[in-house]
Amino acid sequence: MNLKKRDIDGCYECNSELYPKYKKKNKIFPTYCLKCKKINRSVVKNCPICKSSKYEMWGEPVRNFYSVKCKSCQIVYIKNPLSSFAQNLFYKNYHTTVHQKEKKKNKQRSKMYKLELNFIKKGINNYERIKNVLDVGCGGGYLLDLLKIDGKKTFGTEIGIDSFNVARKKHKMYFGNFDHKLVIKKQFDLIIFRGVIEHVEDPIGYIKKAQKLLKKNGHIFITATPNLNCIAAKLFKERWSLHRPESHILHLSEEHVDEIFKTKSFIKVASKSFYLDTPYENFERDLVSILNEIKRKKKKIKSKNISPAFFESMMSVIYKKIK
Ligand SMILES: [Zn+2]
Ligand SMILES: [Zn+2]
Repeated sequence: MNLKKRDIDGCYECNSELYPKYKKKNKIFPTYCLKCKKINRSVVKNCPICKSSKYEMWGEPVRNFYSVKCKSCQIVYIKNPLSSFAQNLFYKNYHTTVHQKEKKKNKQRSKMYKLELNFIKKGINNYERIKNVLDVGCGGGYLLDLLKIDGKKTFGTEIGIDSFNVARKKHKMYFGNFDHKLVIKKQFDLIIFRGVIEHVEDPIGYIKKAQKLLKKNGHIFITATPNLNCIAAKLFKERWSLHRPESHILHLSEEHVDEIFKTKSFIKVASKSFYLDTPYENFERDLVSILNEIKRKKKKIKSKNISPAFFESMMSVIYKKIK
C-alpha cells in the first residue's frame, strides 16, 4: 500500500464502501465490506478506561471512523477502529513508507528526542543512577540511542518488523505487543511510552505490566501523547491535527492519565507540554489560525481547516513508583 492509499474510508482490500454488519446491534458504525466480505472495523462496546457502555458522539466522523465521548469518564475513543486485518495492512511497512521517507519530520522528531531527554534529566533526580531503560514501542530506537550515549543499558519493544530490525542492531529488543504474552525477565529503572498509549486498546494493561517490570522508585515517562484537554481539541474536534483515527484510537487528558497512575501507587514528579521552541511551533501563525477558527465558529461558517500545533496539545509526564 502506498502513502496516498493509507487514508481511505472504504475497504482496505478493495476500497468498496463499508456497511454495519450486525444491523440490529450496530445501526451506525460501518465495519464490513459487502463485496469482498472483509471485516475492516471492529466495534468497541465499552469505554477502554472505565468500561462504561454509555457514550455520546464527539465531532463528525472522519473517513467513516466515529468518535465518541464516554459519558462516565469523559475520554474520547473510536467506536469502530480498524480490525486486525485492516490494521495489518495499515501498519505494513509503516516504518519505511511513512516514518523514514519523511525527512523533515525525522529532523523534527530528533529535535524532540533531545528536548525530551533534557526533560527526563531534570525531572528525575538521580538520573545518573538509572541503569536499565525500556522504551515500549520504541520505533527505530532513536530516543534509546541518546540514552545509550549516556551510558544506560537500553531495551525496547516493537511490533513493526522494519522498526524492530533497525532497533535490534543497537539495543536489546523484544518483538510483540506489550501484553502478558511478551516475556521480559528484567527489571527497569525507567520505562518510556513515547506516543504509545493513545494507540492501544488497553492502556491500563500496559501500565500494569510496566509497573511489574519497574524497580521500586523507578519511573514511567509518558510522552508525545495527545492531550484531550486542550484548546485545539475543544475547538477543532475531529479536525484536531492529532485526531488520526486509524492509529490514535483513544484520547486522554493529562488528568485521566494522572487518575490511572494514582490508583497504581505512583506519584507525578514532573509534567510539561512541549510547544514553544519545538520544531512544530510557529506561535504567530498558530494564534492567527486559532482566532480565525473561533471567528468562523461564531459566524457558524463550516470549516475544513486542520488545527495548528498549539499550547497544551501534547503531554509529557513522569510518574514515580512509590510501592
Ligand atoms: Zn472489500
Ligand atoms: Zn469511560
